[in-house]
Amino acid sequence: MNAFFKNKYLRFLNIKKAIREMDELNEKLMREREIKQEFFANASHELKTPITSIKGYAELLDSGMVTDEEMKKDMISRIKKEADHMTALISDILEVSKLESGEEEPEIMYVDISHMISELIETFKPKAEENKVSIHNYTKENVYIYADYSHIEEIASNLISNAIRYNRKSGKIWINAYNEGNMLIFRVRDTGIGIADDEKEKIFNRFYRVDKGRSKATGGTGLGLSIVKHLLSYYNGTIDVNSKQGSGSEFVVRIPSHYNKKKN
Ligand code: ADP
Repeated sequence: MNAFFKNKYLRFLNIKKAIREMDELNEKLMREREIKQEFFANASHELKTPITSIKGYAELLDSGMVTDEEMKKDMISRIKKEADHMTALISDILEVSKLESGEEEPEIMYVDISHMISELIETFKPKAEENKVSIHNYTKENVYIYADYSHIEEIASNLISNAIRYNRKSGKIWINAYNEGNMLIFRVRDTGIGIADDEKEKIFNRFYRVDKGRSKATGGTGLGLSIVKHLLSYYNGTIDVNSKQGSGSEFVVRIPSHYNKKKN
């Protein structure tokens, strides 16, 4: 091939490569757009349900048809519960969109995990007692990570609150966190309802709940584990589930103890 044709051929290959790259980028953007649209459609749907209930109860109370004082009280408490559910939903939706925007830089600091876990257990004590669930913490002193405090607290609190909510009455929770090599390992094990094999991946999807009724009745939004997974990806961390349906679950989080900015 003479030099003229060789040059033309190389230019042709370069153009072909550029077109392929543009196509790939376009596809990625379209997929991201679809995911966003799906998220907002699901979020609006989830918000509509408590609004409809609140409106229904308010209209009934307003109509004067309900005269029984006990029934009135019950409706008011249902309105409050639905409003709490909406607050939880909005707060999780805002958290997801904050993470999605990727605008916020994490504030990396020394985080005393031993102390954080003790504090969280204190916070969750009333909820655990209400469900007659006992929490056993095996975390020793001086367990640490360099990370954004609020991120690690969000991960830990989601897993602990799930272990309470999906436990059985008089169930148990075992918590352990330790540094191993250059990793922080955080384990939360419960004696709860467990997770079937074919659900183990799905529970990390946004708004996915194995039992929607149970999740909602216990204050769930279906966003907790997806937020946990998103936060972990920021730290190149992982989460694994060991579980047998009917006999409890264990969630194991592994995060490098010294922050390295995520490589894209
Ligand atoms: P939710 O707000 O519904 O708890 P999550 O994203 O935290 O949302 O969890 C998604 C689903 O995973 C839950 O609805 C529940 O079905 C299941 N799940 C999470 N943690 C546990 C657990 N410890 N034991 C059993 N099922 C769990």
